[in-house]
Order: sequence, then structure tokens, then C-alpha cells
Amino acid sequence: MSEQWIYLNGDFVEKHEAKISVYDHGFLYGDGVFEGIRVYEGNVFRLQEHLDRLYNSAKSIMLSIPHSKEEMKQLVVQTLQKNQLSNAYIRLVISRGVGNLGLDPSSCARPQVIIIAEELALFPKELYESGLEIVTVATRRNRPDVLSPKVKSLNYLNNILVKIEASLAGVSEALMLNDQGYVAEGSADNVFIVKGTELLTPPGYVGALEGITRNAIIEFAKDLGYTVKEEPFTRHDVYVADEVFLTGTAAEVIAVVKVDGRVIGEGKPGKETKRLLEAFRERVVIEGEKVYSETLR
Ligand code: PMP
Repeated sequence: MSEQWIYLNGDFVEKHEAKISVYDHGFLYGDGVFEGIRVYEGNVFRLQEHLDRLYNSAKSIMLSIPHSKEEMKQLVVQTLQKNQLSNAYIRLVISRGVGNLGLDPSSCARPQVIIIAEELALFPKELYESGLEIVTVATRRNRPDVLSPKVKSLNYLNNILVKIEASLAGVSEALMLNDQGYVAEGSADNVFIVKGTELLTPPGYVGALEGITRNAIIEFAKDLGYTVKEEPFTRHDVYVADEVFLTGTAAEVIAVVKVDGRVIGEGKPGKETKRLLEAFRERVVIEGEKVYSETLR
């Protein structure tokens, strides 16, 4: 396989050389922010929205990103070009930078900027055809007033605990509830339930990240004539839904066919989920800023 190039603070370095200091506060304390982005046939999907979320997350934690959004766009494109990738997953990480062992971020002279692009297959293809079995877990979503889920920070312990619980239960993904018992989201994806032609997804205030795929699905579904509601719901509503699916940059749109042992609908990916996945896959290729398609195709 050809060498993978990582963008690291102004240079492209080979993967095995892409190293950061153990004094980086991203490593020491999870002090930093990140984004996961997809490029489909040269179209970087909703890059502007990802950058808006990244810069908002950074602003919220008072981390000053040393590039304008326009520069960052160019760096993302350059990383794809350098790696000759037109279908890939892109990870953008901004850590607080190298400091001393104290918590105070003022010891960190400058943030570190890292861009990784690689081919990705999160769930095997068969799972999109068979659907996922998931569980709900004891780990609760961070309360929005404690650590806002809108900040996509490097502190992902909450989500990692969900993954650990999921694998202990023998499944690959799980749903977290919020502190009041309403369904919040998966470890790295948003959740939708389908009732007839109505789609429901938890609103941001329940404690979910307002996912870019989630927002795209809301938009695409409305275009297709579905009614979409952002409303809190419980585990019971999930168990008795006609269909359940998860959305995320990595997961795209994936059906859930069993939750806590309850079979959802007919136990296979439902027709609305399939239709939405199809619409999603079509739109992600068409949409996008043409500059990327021209430079990458
Ligand atoms: N929730 C969490 C906790 C996530 O990490 C992600 C992945 N970024 C999502 C939801 C889905 O968001 P998006 O569609 O923007 O990838």
C-alpha cells in the first residue's frame, strides 16, 4: 500500500512519522476539538457545516484555531490530493497544544492542527442489508449543562463507555439515554424512529450532538414528503417503532433491527430506512462544492 500522508502543523508527514508530544494537552486532558468528515467522489460533504461546528466548538472552549475557515478548507483539500483520495473519511483534530503538566491551558503555546484522511468502512456492507442489533446502556449522556454535547471535544469518555458496554453485550453499537431517561443518541451517531411516514429524532436539548448527517436526513426526508419531528422519546417508543435507524458521518444511514432483545418491525431494514439511505447516497455525491470535484476527480 502506498504511503499515507498526515497534515501536521504545516507539513505533510508520513503516517509513521506523525507524532505529537506527550505534553500535548489533547493527550493529557482531552483538551481539544475534532470533526469527522466524508468525501464522496470528490465532493466533501457539507464541509462548511463541519467547519462551522468545529469553530463553534473551539470558540466554546476558548481555543483559537490558527487558520481561517477558508485556509482550513484548502488544507482539507490538499490532504485529500496528497493522498490521492476522492472517497474517504477525514479526521480534523485541533488540540490545545504542548504545555506543562498543569491543567491551565495558558501554558500551551500554540494549538496543533492535524488532518488525517483514509479510506473507511465502519460497518461491513452486509450490515446495511441485515441491519444492526443494539442495546441501551447504563451510561448516560453528559448533561448539556455540564459538558455541552454541541462541543465536539476530544473528551469522548462518555461515548467510549457506551462502546465498552455495547461490546460486553455482544453488539457493535448502543443507545444512551439522558439523565431523565429520554433516548439521546448512539456512541457516535444520532437516532431516528419511524412511525408510518413520520420520523422522530431527539431534539438537541435532550443531549444529542446535532449531527450533520442527522440534519441532512431531516432535510432529505422533508423533500421526500415525510413529516419530521424533533421530539423527546423513550425506550418504549423505540421498541414499538415501525423502523429505527442511526445516522452519522461514518455510519451514514443504518437500520436497527433489534433493540434490547425486542425485534423492530419485521426484523429487517424497513422500506423507509432503505429509501432514505438511497436518497442520502445519491445526494452526497451530487452535493458539495464543485472545486473539490474538479480538483479530485
Ligand atoms: N453523535 C455523536 C456523539 C457523534 O460523535 C457523531 C459523529 N460525529 C454523531 C452523533 C453524528 O454526527 P455527524 O452526522 O455530524 O457525523
